[in-house]
Amino acid sequence: MTKPLRALIVEDSKDDAELLLRELRHGGFDPDYVQVETSEAMSSELSARTWDIVFADYTMPHFNAIDALALLHNIGLDLPFIIVSGTIGEDRAVKAMKAGAHDYIFKGNLKRLIPAVERELRDAVVRRKRLQAEKTVHRLAYTDPVTELPNRTKFIEYIKETVAVGLQEHHSVGLLIMDIDRFKDVNNTLGYASGDALLRQIGVRLRSTLSGQELVARLGSDEFGILVPRLTSANDIEQFVKNIQNILEAPFVIDGIPIAVEASIGAALWPDHADEEALLQRADIAMYHSKQMMSGYAVYSPEYNLYSSKKLSLMAELRDAIDQSGQLLLHFQPKVEIATGRIVGTEALVRWQHPRLGLLMPDKFIAICENTGLMNTLTRWVLTEALNHCQAARQEGVLSQVSVNFSARSLHNKNLPEVIENILKAIGTEPDRLTIEITESAIMLDPNCAEKNLTALSRMGIHLSIDDFGTGYTSLANLKRLPVNEIKIDKSFVINMLNDKSDAMIVRSVINIGHTFGMRVVAEGVESKEILDALADLGCDEAQGYYISRPQACELLRKWSATSPWKFPTASS
Ligand code: C2E
Ligand code: MG
Ligand code: MG
Repeated sequence: MTKPLRALIVEDSKDDAELLLRELRHGGFDPDYVQVETSEAMSSELSARTWDIVFADYTMPHFNAIDALALLHNIGLDLPFIIVSGTIGEDRAVKAMKAGAHDYIFKGNLKRLIPAVERELRDAVVRRKRLQAEKTVHRLAYTDPVTELPNRTKFIEYIKETVAVGLQEHHSVGLLIMDIDRFKDVNNTLGYASGDALLRQIGVRLRSTLSGQELVARLGSDEFGILVPRLTSANDIEQFVKNIQNILEAPFVIDGIPIAVEASIGAALWPDHADEEALLQRADIAMYHSKQMMSGYAVYSPEYNLYSSKKLSLMAELRDAIDQSGQLLLHFQPKVEIATGRIVGTEALVRWQHPRLGLLMPDKFIAICENTGLMNTLTRWVLTEALNHCQAARQEGVLSQVSVNFSARSLHNKNLPEVIENILKAIGTEPDRLTIEITESAIMLDPNCAEKNLTALSRMGIHLSIDDFGTGYTSLANLKRLPVNEIKIDKSFVINMLNDKSDAMIVRSVINIGHTFGMRVVAEGVESKEILDALADLGCDEAQGYYISRPQACELLRKWSATSPWKFPTASS
């Protein structure tokens, strides 16, 4: 049986080519060949077809074997290359081998041809396999398997290369880090396969914003990096960020479910903000800042570093503030029944009267508590303080309910029902005076544990409320399963409901969903009479917001109620 051989013969003599072909056929090959004798013809044949081997004469009138080899290497081909030539001197043979020829054979001694061809074809297969293996290892080491984008290792190498070019060519380099907001919720609600699918789609959209020189990489779980190598001005990077924000606007569709994606982006520039080593870290700091500020985007500034060391010292001070009391205080905001104007409860909102920094709002310290294990201590303090106020009011004949916010960490504390039961007993308050507010994302962090705790609390008679409803990914199935009494529509929808059709639609649907499940619906963020009236028309049960009252200290709230149209129910009313 003959073996097919696609042979490119670089040779000026037809007769010599014929001799070569005869020898090949004799050796069991069936050559499919083309004969060329110039560089142009060779290069066009190489690009037109796939070849198994090249045979080249050493010298021809218009071409030679060394140039033919160079041409082969220039286009990145690694084909067996055998020189078949009249007698050449030892020095030329060495030169040819050094240039990368695999063998040379004298035309007068063609007997050596077949063993050489067979050996070189075998070697070429081995070389190809090795190359393939190397490419695979390289790909695995530098590619993220989920999105097929370059990974962190590749990204860091690219930063170094790009900064080196920037240094030579005198231009800036921009680095962006983008972190998907609330990605955990997607994983927890829809499963990891859907989370991966979302990341892949985000990767595809990000790639579509690139114009050629930029590199997009997946740096970690829900973190992407984008390197912009040639910045002419800081505005360029803003334009880039805008492009990214635009392409994320349309919802992603995973298994038929539309998912809105929001991201926090941090930018740092070389050489303005950092050397190549610190560039990634600075962009990271900017990203965290934008997340904290919920600004969507931030460019690095040195004060953000300060902010993090400030955060560290705040943490230590907070521990003391909780222990030694006096510095933490509660403000209460009334919740009114829209139909009657009665105050049906108050929400306890914690504040920190800091000796140097003044009155700090919860957004400045709740996250620190979450991350440092102080949360359970803080929640216990708030709960005790709020129930004490509630109990004192009762003794004066004011029948108020109180709502307390629970963070994810407190909700997933295994002893939660026991802890609360002990506090209620110690103060002597009935459980149905207390409402616990939890957010959708806190539930989603560990739905099973949440369900267990919430069921136990509900059995004790405590009321449960889902706060900031509409901002998370609670599935209706979850909502149905949980023993929830109330949902609070997130203020971001309520505030704009008169000007924004989609917000109005969300408010209306949340009211309907809540009523379908037999829950009371509370609108937070009611800032005007017009909004309150609109909510009344939609059948919303309760309202809370600046239009009624800002959160304030307990005594002030009671004084305010005495002269306002909104009244606390009393034992006599
Ligand atoms: P939240 O539970 O959704 O509380 C409502 C927030 O909206 C409060 O902000 C309140 O002052 C503000 N607000 C009320 N009415 C209006 C309005 O008409 N317009 C606008 N624009 N805002 C309004 P605050 O007190 O800064 O609390 C922020 C968040 O901090 C709370 O959101 C809650 O999630 C958390 N938080 C507060 N106290 C505690 C606590 O004791 N424990 C825990 N874990 N979180 C707390
Ligand atoms: Mg709340
Ligand atoms: Mg809320």
